[in-house]
Amino acid sequence: TKSGSNIRADILEKVNAFYIQELYKNKFAYDYLKQRGINDSTIEKFALGYAPDSMKQFQFFKNANLNINELKALGVLSENGEYPRLIERITFPIFSASGKIIAMGGRTITNHPAKYINFTNTKIFNKSKTFYGLNFAREHILRKKEAIIVEGYMDVIMLHQAGYNTAIATLGTALTPDHLPQLQKLGAKILLSYDSDSAGINAALKASKLLFRSFFEGGVILFPEGLDPADVVKSGNDLNEYFKNQIPFLEFIIEYTIKKYDIKNPLQKKQALDELKEYIFTLPEILQESFVNKAAQYLQISPKLLLIRRSNQPQATG
Ligand code: ATP
Ligand code: MN
Ligand code: MN
Ligand code: MN
Repeated sequence: TKSGSNIRADILEKVNAFYIQELYKNKFAYDYLKQRGINDSTIEKFALGYAPDSMKQFQFFKNANLNINELKALGVLSENGEYPRLIERITFPIFSASGKIIAMGGRTITNHPAKYINFTNTKIFNKSKTFYGLNFAREHILRKKEAIIVEGYMDVIMLHQAGYNTAIATLGTALTPDHLPQLQKLGAKILLSYDSDSAGINAALKASKLLFRSFFEGGVILFPEGLDPADVVKSGNDLNEYFKNQIPFLEFIIEYTIKKYDIKNPLQKKQALDELKEYIFTLPEILQESFVNKAAQYLQISPKLLLIRRSNQPQATG
């Protein structure tokens, strides 16, 4: 069929089945998942596994008669075919929206400096367009008209386990315009539920700017400092406490842009103003007015100050 004709995706199902077997053969790997708070039915639902050492994997590839070139093309093996991409890692199959395995990610449990590794893009996997968990979340998102976007595999898995079945994640990348057509098709309100650390808040700010500009409804969920959704589920705290406090994109963008500055200092207040203006000029006109009015309120300035475009104003980006 079409572009994927010379690539047999069922090989990924076979490799994944092998990784699942290995999870149960390597108690420390299974124990790791239990210790993270993942229960057996969740392990099964998300088809989590364990990629053992390289030699064991090559033995399996040989016994199962899997072709080295095909394994390379699917991303299971490195470019030169010399080693499996995932070694001594918990494995997370990445499914297409229709539930076929199209790639995998892996988390180290041996303190390897790269905590997560994903397959590189292949003919059947484009990581900047894929949402992890969408195959499970899709029908719930369509019904509830709400999608929760999180940073990582563990967040999706733990939220689903806790009953938040509309959670999906981008794959180790920021939310980009490439992701938007899929979200638009879902027609849902978007809740960003990123890690409540500085990296996560910055990512939420960028994503909010993109979503607001693109006419998405929704907002941002924050947790206690340093925690991500998976941590909160594990802690046993009631997630509803957090999910009921949604900061709408418009307010989040203004508040968290201003927060970067000490606006009692006039110079810094001007910098906050400039940063907001840079964003305002990227907005479709119809969104500018509500944004400008709200921002003026926050900064206690006249709205027209936010619409003056100086000739030496740096060009708006992003
Ligand atoms: P855990 O809870 O297992 O420690 P996490 O999901 O909280 O993992 P983060 O460090 O918050 O880990 O990263 C969020 C997501 O970013 C990960 O799930 C993964 O998809 C991606 N990621 C993290 N580290 C890397 C890396 N070194 N290379 C590629 N992607 C990564
Ligand atoms: Mn993080
Ligand atoms: Mn995290
Ligand atoms: Mn985490």
